Amino acid sequence: MTDRLYYDDAFLKSFSAQVVDIREASRADGVSIWQIALDRSAFYPASGGQPHDTGLLTATSRNGATLEVPIESVEEDDQGEVWHFTRKPLLAGTAVQGAIDWPRRLDHIQQHSGQHLLSAVFARELDAQTVSFHLGETASTIDLATSLIAHHSLERVERIANEIIAEDRAVTVRTVDRRAAEALLAEGRLRKLPERDGSIRLIEIADYDLNACGGTHVRSTGQIGGLLIRSVERISRGTRVEFVCGLRSVALARRDFVLLHGAAATLSISPADIPAAIERLRAEGKSSAKACQKLREDLATYHAIRLAVEEMIQDNLRLVRRVFTHHDREYVRILASRLTATVPRTIALFISAETDPARIFLARSQDMKLHCGEVLREALAAYGLRGGGSSDLAQGDLTKEQAEELSVRLATDLRTQLARPRPAE
Ligand SMILES: [Zn+2]
Repeated sequence: MTDRLYYDDAFLKSFSAQVVDIREASRADGVSIWQIALDRSAFYPASGGQPHDTGLLTATSRNGATLEVPIESVEEDDQGEVWHFTRKPLLAGTAVQGAIDWPRRLDHIQQHSGQHLLSAVFARELDAQTVSFHLGETASTIDLATSLIAHHSLERVERIANEIIAEDRAVTVRTVDRRAAEALLAEGRLRKLPERDGSIRLIEIADYDLNACGGTHVRSTGQIGGLLIRSVERISRGTRVEFVCGLRSVALARRDFVLLHGAAATLSISPADIPAAIERLRAEGKSSAKACQKLREDLATYHAIRLAVEEMIQDNLRLVRRVFTHHDREYVRILASRLTATVPRTIALFISAETDPARIFLARSQDMKLHCGEVLREALAAYGLRGGGSSDLAQGDLTKEQAEELSVRLATDLRTQLARPRPAE
């Protein structure tokens, strides 16, 4: 069984070991992935919500040539053997130097230890128990068995966690047998106990928290280096809290700072003035939209008058058929409505072809006997399409070609139906 060096020293960055076993894990497109077992290893295998380490194994041959074997992933099997995944095989018996990717490990140590602390503060301050933990690529989350937490409670939890970090309390590791662990659980000193048999590894934050865990941790809370709660969201089984610790929180704060400064620079203001500027822009946007709508309606009124003047009255009927390619549907609808409201004995057959599908409008003035909704519904049904509306204005969507064809046909039909030759005087 692999001697797990990180159990005793989570800060061990390099070590010497010997390959004890190798097997092919998979092969795809002629490339093999190998699994290497070592007699001892500082590499952490993925478990308990903490991701695996990566790093390098280096073998030196008798003539002094070195072979570097990158370790891409590390897993433990059910028997407790730790397997190092690589694309380069090493013979059993080969002596190697191992080096873990230290920045990655330190990051995991900070997030994972920060999770112990954050869970402990939530349990103590809000009686909110952690049900799961996830260490992600950019941020970590804990799921709490509690309904949504008030903003001021979150700030208090964050402040207490950071005070404990500043106090630099010792974080110690010890191993006890199961009976001793059960006694601690019964006393209420231990929050949870894993199901498995054998000895239990306990992590203690001095005078604050005791937890059973097989992960890698800081030596004292100061090494967590700060904790920042990022967001809180309601999930089906409680509340998810996203947080970052240590160097990650600095990196994220830096990213936020760059974003804020970029946003402020585009407005030529200072970052502190962003909320007020957004409020002002929103108000301006709203009033511009209102002014724009007013202008559109005024324009539609004049446009309607121009159309009425342009179109000849034939047999006591003004039938205006138009295709608009540069006006949106809403404008064309207003225009149809204005035209038929303004002048008598008028039918509007308009198509807004600015978008695909196009939209056809049929509208009539109040003095016409015609149910636009029924006429258009029936006409569209012939294309297997739906549409309709009120007796004085109806609409439906169809392709531009269909719309033009339909409008020509409807114009002919309506003229036949509605034209009323002026009686001889
Ligand atoms: Zn842990």
